Amino acid sequence: MKQLDRIPVMRPWFGEAEAEAVRDAVLSGWVAQGPRVAAFEKALAGRLEARAGVALSNCTTALHLGLVLAGVGPGDEVVVPSLSFIATANVVRHQQAVPVFADVDLHTQNLTVETVERALTPRTRAVIAVHQAGTPLDLDPLSDLCRDRGLVLIEDAACAIGSQYRGRPVGSQARFAAFSFHPRKLLTTGEGGMLLTDDPELAARARRLREHGMDLSAAERHQGEELVLESYTEVGFNYRMTDVQAALGLVQLERLDAMVARRRELAARYQKALPGLLTAADTADGTTNYQSFWVLLPPDWPRSRNDMLRLLLEHGISGRRGIMAAHTEPAYAGHPHAPLPVTERLAADSLILPIYHELSEADQDRIIDVFTTGGRA
Ligand SMILES: *Cc1c(COP(=O)(O)O)cnc(C)c1O
Repeated sequence: MKQLDRIPVMRPWFGEAEAEAVRDAVLSGWVAQGPRVAAFEKALAGRLEARAGVALSNCTTALHLGLVLAGVGPGDEVVVPSLSFIATANVVRHQQAVPVFADVDLHTQNLTVETVERALTPRTRAVIAVHQAGTPLDLDPLSDLCRDRGLVLIEDAACAIGSQYRGRPVGSQARFAAFSFHPRKLLTTGEGGMLLTDDPELAARARRLREHGMDLSAAERHQGEELVLESYTEVGFNYRMTDVQAALGLVQLERLDAMVARRRELAARYQKALPGLLTAADTADGTTNYQSFWVLLPPDWPRSRNDMLRLLLEHGISGRRGIMAAHTEPAYAGHPHAPLPVTERLAADSLILPIYHELSEADQDRIIDVFTTGGRA
């Protein structure tokens, strides 16, 4: 099989409109954070029914700003799933705080009230709960728990744009919800992120913090008719998105409904072809955007997970291991944690099959064929 024919695990969906939008941004002369970033924030917050959106350089910086705004600092504990991309835990370390790993539910791969409760101590300040692979968290009981215990809830919605919980978009009611626009997710700006919040004052502070703590944005100074001098109200960061990225994002946002619909079709075809296996799926109260289509191999499956990935690769198909477990990585060696049996099983025995907007049904049938052959060997 030639490399060229390889089916990728994921591929962004772009058309001429994205190329034109980027061209327009470049020719406008304004390429750093400016009017297109402001328009993208407004459009995305509107589409996700949220009060305010703050565009940022990526989702990791959005999560970090969430912790800063929540007042999490040195020695505080933050409950996070180990089963997540490592950024979820790393941002806690960036604040000199302590990530406390909680286990997840086998079917949703998400934290639950029960797993979070077991990880709480008097030092817990916040919880970062992930809508893993786009599968919506069971948010209401978790929000109630955090409210009762005086904890800040930060939603890591990196993968969950277009997913719904109880009929509303994920992130719509959040105090803090962080989204990613990396190409591995659905809607992409190359690199990029957004923090949604229901509090306009937090949004205003986030906009200052992303721009070195400046009280006036570059765009505001540019438009001012009189001399205006900025001041620096607190120590901030450079977490800005560029107008070139926002130009891409504005076009991509128009494709969101179609992206989600196509992925849901492809996921239904996988589910039909792989009966009896535990896979990514909707939850009792939510619908997923199928950012990743994961499959858990049962104990009696004849091949190991890594052998399955090798088999796929031999047939020109790029799979991936399932969601990683941060506590098993060298960066977290020696970091204390309670037993995480479900996390370890999912990390060891699950894999991700290709799913993306332009995946053809013929290619998907090829993937299914190789996968089910692996189950017979
Ligand atoms: C991708 C991802 C991130 C990081 O997003 P970036 O935009 O690459 O910083 C954080 N959390 C989760 C769960 C992710 O999947």
